[in-house]
Amino acid sequence: MTVRLCSKVACGQDAVATLTYDYADAMAVLGPLSYRSEPHSYDLCPRHAERLSAPQGWQVVRHVVVGSQEAV
Ligand SMILES: [Zn+2]
Repeated sequence: MTVRLCSKVACGQDAVATLTYDYADAMAVLGPLSYRSEPHSYDLCPRHAERLSAPQGWQVVRHVVVGSQEAV
């Protein structure tokens, strides 16, 4: 099983969520960890997912509650 790591530089924590930027709609979508890497997507650990901030004028959509992955 491949361990996915946070894409933030110098982080190295296990990733639990995937952030995808939708440039057309100016949305930053945070969802469950994706099984494959896609363009404009970034894997994030709980800490960085929690601190997620989108560029000004962008909407942040969260599909997961960070920290609840133990219940799955
Ligand atoms: Zn991180």
